[in-house]
Amino acid sequence: RSNSASTCPVLTKFQKDCATPTPYLRNVANAIADDMRAGLAVEGGGDLDMILTYVDALPSGNEEGLFYALDLGGTNFRVRSVQLGGKKKRVVATESEQISIPQKLMIGTSEELFGFIAAKLASFVAKEKPSRFRLEEGRKREIGFTFSFPVKQTSIDSGTLIKWTKGFKVSGMEGKNVVACLNKAMEAHGLDMRVSALVNDGVGTLAGARYSEEDVMIGVILGTGTNACYVEQKHAIPKLQSKSSSGTTIINTEWGGFSKVLPKTIFDQEMDAKSPNPGEHLYEKMISGMYLGEIVRRVLLQMCETSDLFGQFVPVKLSTPFELRTEHLCEMQADTTDDLQTVGSVLYNILEVEANLQERRRVVEVCDTVVKRGGRLAGAGIVAILEKIEKETKRMGSGKRTVVAMDGALYEKYPQYREYMQDALVELLGDKLSHIAIKHTKDVSGLGAALLAATNSIY
Ligand code: ADP
Repeated sequence: RSNSASTCPVLTKFQKDCATPTPYLRNVANAIADDMRAGLAVEGGGDLDMILTYVDALPSGNEEGLFYALDLGGTNFRVRSVQLGGKKKRVVATESEQISIPQKLMIGTSEELFGFIAAKLASFVAKEKPSRFRLEEGRKREIGFTFSFPVKQTSIDSGTLIKWTKGFKVSGMEGKNVVACLNKAMEAHGLDMRVSALVNDGVGTLAGARYSEEDVMIGVILGTGTNACYVEQKHAIPKLQSKSSSGTTIINTEWGGFSKVLPKTIFDQEMDAKSPNPGEHLYEKMISGMYLGEIVRRVLLQMCETSDLFGQFVPVKLSTPFELRTEHLCEMQADTTDDLQTVGSVLYNILEVEANLQERRRVVEVCDTVVKRGGRLAGAGIVAILEKIEKETKRMGSGKRTVVAMDGALYEKYPQYREYMQDALVELLGDKLSHIAIKHTKDVSGLGAALLAATNSIY
């Protein structure tokens, strides 16, 4: 392995620049913890926004009645109905539907987008079978609305859009209350429903996971983007201007915004410079699915240009930003054949290049370097939150377990990423890790949102 790298100066330097030995990871975890504290002290105090979600109570398991979840955060939106039967019967019935959002609505007007959503919601409710779902008399249908864009939350059931991301650019909505936009559209469609909780997918995941396990304290999303939410003690939040400082509340860390002490390489700097938000969200740009493939592409391109790879040949496709995706890295790293056949075919199909065995090996090394750094840094973030919780609650010290609920396709589908993340936890937490469980809680965020509608019901 060192042999092949030694003839490959770009790769050798890249590996060195990406290295995150334990002491370095410790510094990262400490720096994230510092910025968490700074963000809890004052608005904008650190890189992490540490947003107050106004979710003080997580589901207890006693919730009863019919509630809905509406999830908007990408190219699809999802609706779900959940009939809750209390402690004994739990989820009695649930039904869901996923609807893809036509491209033109993502860049149209708010009336068009929310009109479309309200219409689909109306037909979803119209199909409801009275034998399975029953709304208590005198009640409106209540919704937990998962809206995964940056929002300035103003109460549990309202918040203004800070900015659109992920390809959305709906006119005239920034600075507007997103719940009011939805309400207006529902009214226009004669739909008598109300939003009782506005949350993001991290909070939804935390709430959904808590329903089946009391020890869940953190929800982490690792998908296209990344975020983490956790249960904080109110007395540890100086910026919280409320009379009561007892009890807990959920903080949405927006940890992707962290940008200090990170192992930045020239490739990260170049990718960042071309991004819509240069200098910001560097943590997200190193650990989340949207970017891992792109970093690898940039390294491979440089290797080609210096003849470290593919001889004199520079594949045209390798010059196209985001052509190589994280899914492709995952596919290549899963290759166990002696001659790396899958790596060969991915390179052929995606980059239109025929690679020999040594070249295939080098490509895998680049993937591994990027994924190792990403997984380890994600682990450092989780440690920062675990240690903050421990500092305020001493729960592990008293023998209690703490569960971290994980979701997102990057975490779910990339085993090497998960293993590197686990390594970081082992290195940083040592024996304390025996009090911690990392659990993949798949797709619970919709259930979580419906449960939060129940917890925050006006009835
Ligand atoms: P969201 O877009 O809401 O985050 P997902 O959790 O499904 O939704 O995440 C999708 C992202 O996960 C993709 O953009 C990609 O980066 C990553 N991903 C999807 N499939 C895989 C895979 N097989 N291996 C590695 N990463 C994947």
